[in-house]
This record gives sequence, structure tokens and C-alpha cells, in this order.
Amino acid sequence: MKILVGSYQCESNTFSPNLAKKELFYRLYGEEAKNELVATRVFEAEGFSVVPLGYAVALPSGSVCREDYLEMLEEFLTEARKHTDADGVYLYFHGAMYVDGIGSGEEYFVKRLREIIGNEIPISVASDFHSNVSDGLRENIQALSGFRTAPHTDYDETETRAANALVRILKENLKPTLHLFRVKVLFADAAQTAGEPYRTLLSMLREAEQDERVVSASIYNGQPWVDAEFVGACVAVSLVNDNGEAYAKFKAIADYYEAHKTDMKFDMPALSPDATVKAVKDLPKPVFISDSGDNSTAGADGESTFLLGKMLDGETGRGLVASLFDEKTYAALSALPDGAMTSIRLAAKDEYSKALELSGRVVRKGVILGFVGERVGEGVLFESEEGIDVIFSNARTSFTTEAHFDEMGVKPADYDWVALKMGYLWPGVDGLAKSRIFCLTPGSSTNDFSTLNFKNLRGEYYYILPDKS
Ligand SMILES: [Zn+2]
Repeated sequence: MKILVGSYQCESNTFSPNLAKKELFYRLYGEEAKNELVATRVFEAEGFSVVPLGYAVALPSGSVCREDYLEMLEEFLTEARKHTDADGVYLYFHGAMYVDGIGSGEEYFVKRLREIIGNEIPISVASDFHSNVSDGLRENIQALSGFRTAPHTDYDETETRAANALVRILKENLKPTLHLFRVKVLFADAAQTAGEPYRTLLSMLREAEQDERVVSASIYNGQPWVDAEFVGACVAVSLVNDNGEAYAKFKAIADYYEAHKTDMKFDMPALSPDATVKAVKDLPKPVFISDSGDNSTAGADGESTFLLGKMLDGETGRGLVASLFDEKTYAALSALPDGAMTSIRLAAKDEYSKALELSGRVVRKGVILGFVGERVGEGVLFESEEGIDVIFSNARTSFTTEAHFDEMGVKPADYDWVALKMGYLWPGVDGLAKSRIFCLTPGSSTNDFSTLNFKNLRGEYYYILPDKS
């Protein structure tokens, strides 16, 4: 039996003004695409032959450019047309890809694929905890398996579950139906699986999925910075031969979620920018500050100077901004020798920030790593006269591990505070902090959803009201 496999991923933030172009996608073809997927090993161990459709994965960004999306999609479809005799399909999505002028990139993918392979062949999808599952996607797939950790650590386990679901469907010749129970919440960085209500919900899920009528089961948080009517959380379950009993168990999980949505809390102080400036002085050092409104791991650009401006005004001690994506300033500073004194003018990057002027010296140049530790560009460490160091980079990033600091030759322990383009602290940097502040800065990844101009939500959504004091 033959299984087609592929991965097409980009987590979109539709409030970010910059479209994701094809250059942002890391692409693999043929055997390399096939071997990148954990699911391939599951299928081959079970005796299936595996055919790669392709692999195109980008880091979180704005909506995906329509033309580029279609061009890359065509490559997947071209491979699929050579294998219309396939028995099953495995797809690894992020689940929150939004294509400009199209909508859900995942829904569009499976609909176009169905035109080629027909409606009888089962499709099993693996996807991120932050997927927004559209009805059109649900109708066109037979199994859906999501991450069960946030911060995410179960990539391989999720792929394996999704692969096993497809193996079972094919071996037992099952015709499952995928059901969705939606929960209208916009949960962002407070949503971590170690906290409530997710801890309880996931234990309910693990118990309920023991039922042999369950082919796949997931709880999704959704990616809240997507302006689409299918945004938000859901419980997804794929069932066979059910008399309504298994369905009821999963409906009960969704009902629990609805009833306990108010249990969601931030795991560190969530403060307004002004309160952050005050609080930082009294906390054990270094204080790690999440610049949550400009969180590049959530698709924002990582270029807002808003928080830097607040910290400069507030006499907050020796600080490090890691980092600011600013190609122009990077180019100007990197042309100077280490130790050179200079003045720089930073433009206001959005409606919230103001232009800043800094005087200081170029300290050193270094390497900028991407979210998962890959080399993505270069940075310059600039030491301002006010005692705040800023790393200017020529690539979008977020400092997610200690190696990110090492590559730039800086030590967080040398500072009173470190500001990161991040929401909740990633496990790779959490241990470097002596204390933590989740700063509710404005921007395209803000946690204050009342400030975002949603046009496509239907009905009332619940979110955590931040403390604006
Ligand atoms: Zn995610």
C-alpha cells in the first residue's frame, strides 16, 4: 500500500502587515522531504511504501502571499498527480496558515488535493496546538492529531500519533468521521499545558481516547491573531462505529473547557508597560521581560521600539534588548569598527512607538540564530549612553536559547533586565531569568484583544482582560 506524505507550514498573524513570501520557506524535495518526517518511519516500519509530495516550512509570519502559496502548492499537487493510486495521505501542517485572498491554507490544500485523489482515500493530519481548524478542513480529512504541549515539546509524538491513526484506518479499512466542538476563546500566551484548564482537559482527553471507537483525539488552543471566523479553540475527535456514547464523552470535554475557560491565568506577572517600568527595579536580577505585543514567535515583526522607549524614559538600570530587527540600523552600525562612537535615529515602527535617538558605541558583531537555533543572520551589539544595550539584527528572530546570547557575546546575568521578542518564556531561556514580567505591549501579537480590529469573528469570544494599571 502506498502513502503520500508532505508538510506545508506557516503560522500566520493576519495583523502583521508583512506578507510571508516564498523566500521565507525552508524547502525539501524527494527523499529529503520524506526523511524529514517522523511519520515516514512509522509507515515504513508497518510495510507501507512512502511517496513524498514535498516539504515547505516557514517560521511564524504575516499572512502568506497568495501567488507564492499557489506556486508552492502546485509543486505538491504535481507530485500527487503521479500517484493517483495512493491508498492514504499524511500531512503535517502548522494549522494556522492564512493565505491572503484565500483564507485557510490547510483547507485549500486538502480541497485541491481531493480534486486529484478523490474522496475515498483517507487523509490524516498532524498539527500544532495553535491550529485554527476550519469546517472545510474537517470535512475533507479523516483524522486530526495536535500537539499536547505548550511550550511545544511533543513534535515527534504528535507525528507518530497521526501516522498511527492512518495506519489503523488503512489496516482495519475504517471510515471514521471527524467531529469538532468549538470553544469561543482567544487564548494567547497564558495558555500553557502545565496550567489549568489544560492540565485537566488533557487528562480527560487521554482517558476518553482509550475507547476503541476513537481514531484520533485532540484539543486545540487556536492561534488567536488570525482574523477569521474559524479562529479559536476546539476539541477534535475522529470516531468509528459510534452509537453516540464516545461522541458524548468528547462533548463533555468541550463543555468542561467552556465552563472552566476562566481558570486560564498568566504564569508570571502580566503588567502594562508603565507598571513594568516600576516593577523591574524591585525584582531579583536579571528580570526577563516579554515584549508580548511584538512577539516574533507569534508572527509579529520583532522590530517595535515601543518597549525600548519606555525603558529609556524610566531609568530602569542596565538593560539588554535582544533583539531589534532593523536592517537599516544594522547596516549602518556594522560598517563601523568595534568601539566606534556614533548616534543613531530609530524610526517609529508602528502607530504606538515614537522615533528614538540613541548615542553610544558599537561593541561587537555576532551571529543571529533563528527560533530553532539555525543561523539566520548577523547582529551588532550597541551600547547606549543610557546604559541600555541593544542588539540590532538583519533577520527576524527571537532569543529562545542560551546559545542565542552566546553567539552575540552577551551574558544575561550582566544585566538588570533583558527584553525579548517573545510571549511566554521558552524553556531554553526560562532558566536564565531570576524573575519574569509578561509585558502587555501593544502590537500585532498583543494579548489585549480589545485593541485588535477583528472583522470576521462571529459571536462573543472570551479572552483574559489584562491589568491595564
Ligand atoms: Zn504553536
